[in-house]
Amino acid sequence: MPAKEIAPKDIAAPLLAWYDRSHRRLPWRAPPGANAADPYRVWLSEIMLQQTTVAAVIPYFEAFTTRWPTVEALAAAGDGDVLAAWAGLGYYARARNLLACARAVASDHGGRFPASEAALLGLPGVGAYTAAAIAAIAFGARAVVVDGNVERVVARLFAVEDRLPAAKPRLRTLADTITPEARAGDFAQAMMDLGATICRPKSPDCLVCPVIDACDAARRGIADLLPKKAPKPARPVRYANVYVLRDGGEIMLVRRPPRGLLGGMLGLPMSEIADTPHPEGTHPGAPAAARWSRGARPVSHVFTHFELHLTVFWGDLSDITKPAGDWRAADESAARDLPTLFRKALDFTASVGQF
Ligand code: SF4
Repeated sequence: MPAKEIAPKDIAAPLLAWYDRSHRRLPWRAPPGANAADPYRVWLSEIMLQQTTVAAVIPYFEAFTTRWPTVEALAAAGDGDVLAAWAGLGYYARARNLLACARAVASDHGGRFPASEAALLGLPGVGAYTAAAIAAIAFGARAVVVDGNVERVVARLFAVEDRLPAAKPRLRTLADTITPEARAGDFAQAMMDLGATICRPKSPDCLVCPVIDACDAARRGIADLLPKKAPKPARPVRYANVYVLRDGGEIMLVRRPPRGLLGGMLGLPMSEIADTPHPEGTHPGAPAAARWSRGARPVSHVFTHFELHLTVFWGDLSDITKPAGDWRAADESAARDLPTLFRKALDFTASVGQF
């Protein structure tokens, strides 16, 4: 049992004291107590962190801010350069929105991010969570910053047993009750750090938690049962073919159409995505009538709403006309700018000695 219980609404002081001692050092952060960080760096990190881990984001963040140190520099960058630099982070709609947002800040706001949540919400790709995070962390405004980590911590602090996602509005209201007027940005980052390092999804480490004295779930011994979630519908499987077409030391890549899955990215030639596998012996979407060899097993890649099974074909352009495309040297450099699913297809082709 905790030595001295406190109400969840009083967690700000112990949580901020813990944050001052134990915060994660991250390249986009200002030191605790600074009450403001560079809005460009906060925004860029938050967009990159959506659906991606901190460890995966750090090298991308360093590369972007080295190459484009200001929002105006990013706004002036070419679409292809930014999409190539983003390759591997996934969710490419975010990269397109990133550029659209940088350009909106440069052209409509004189190169400075607006400070209010309402104005931030008007920017491309900036939703309620990101607007609140930028307002709090970059501008020191009192904003209620609620992502999945914060929902989990709040559900446990207040022992909320309603299921997600229906519980979201209640969790946001409760998060509002614990957000302090001062140091709201540090408070938001402290909640994120608590969720990432101690109040983890599995096996929360309650014995070292700075707010255990305020936590109803820990008191009742139900922390690792929360938050409860509604069962997820199964992710459907869909199917496509991809083609690794070589011509001597070169491999054919294509620029995908600007809209739709992986829009605007470089990729391998690929068929339409279908609900059933394309029939054996057919090559829909093939870039040429080559003699195609077929991978014995599919390469799978998980998107948010479906799992894609790719059948990989490879062939040589020996006696046919070279189709128009983006021909690259057939080595690791060809894979570097590609989204992960195409890298997986090339890895597979290499594993059978064909790339
Ligand atoms: Fe999470 Fe445990 Fe801390 Fe409660 S005491 S906030 S469940 S780590």
